[in-house]
Amino acid sequence: MKYLSLLFIILLSFSVSFAQNTQRSVPGQQAALKRMQNLYDSLSPMQKNMFLTEIKHIMDPEVTIVKPGRTDDDPPSDAIILFNGNDLNKEWQESGFGPDRKMTLKPAVTWIVKDGAIESSQGSGSLTTKRSFEDFQLHIEWKTPSVITGEGQGRGNSGILIQSIYEVQILDSYNNRTYRNGQAGAVYMQYAPLVNVSRKPGEWQSFDIIYTAPRFKNDSTFFTPPRVTVFHNGVLVQNNVEIQGPTVSPGIPQYMINAHGPGPISLQQHGNPVAFKNIWIREL
Ligand code: MG
Repeated sequence: MKYLSLLFIILLSFSVSFAQNTQRSVPGQQAALKRMQNLYDSLSPMQKNMFLTEIKHIMDPEVTIVKPGRTDDDPPSDAIILFNGNDLNKEWQESGFGPDRKMTLKPAVTWIVKDGAIESSQGSGSLTTKRSFEDFQLHIEWKTPSVITGEGQGRGNSGILIQSIYEVQILDSYNNRTYRNGQAGAVYMQYAPLVNVSRKPGEWQSFDIIYTAPRFKNDSTFFTPPRVTVFHNGVLVQNNVEIQGPTVSPGIPQYMINAHGPGPISLQQHGNPVAFKNIWIREL
């Protein structure tokens, strides 16, 4: 506001001087311009920058128009629909490990599609997207069983594995005490959620995840580390935290030695039944 006032004073000074001096001599006009110059020169660099910034109106290019969903949970017009309640195999495949401990990928035939949601069954592997992603905004809804079995980490355990290696934890954390950096909304073993905003078992919950992928130098060390923001049921639980490295348990996460590019998103199979629905993503 004070800069707008300053701008007003400058323009007023200029107007008065100009009005006075257009009727006067050339030396008089030059003196007015000199006073203007002196006034501008007396501004600090920050004031000059603000002065110049505030008068800029940038019109082009026009901001891209995106049609919002009917509700904030519905996908906007530029989203990729990862699961719409019907065709699981369009965007997902099932991952597991063969006898040689190498990862295997196959059609997602052991997951059950029912009532617009998906749920793992006995012997299911993790689900992995066919596409790979870098920076994104992800919406996903999940539900742990209403019939409580197990406790701690053995109750509704799953997770969103970003680029297949950085886990945002899914767990039934409603009246289920466990280590704080392993409960629902944690960046597993790295950051506890800011609050526990879990709904009761059997109720649908949501994650909205904003992820910035790491950038690497040519020598494969991090140029910038990955960062993640997470909203759990609409409440901020991770505020742009710096991921310290791929999820490991037990152990201390380390920054990657080898650089990695885009990666898929996986839904962890941890042996506990967890259902998912309404999954969409926007590439940023
Ligand atoms: Mg997990």
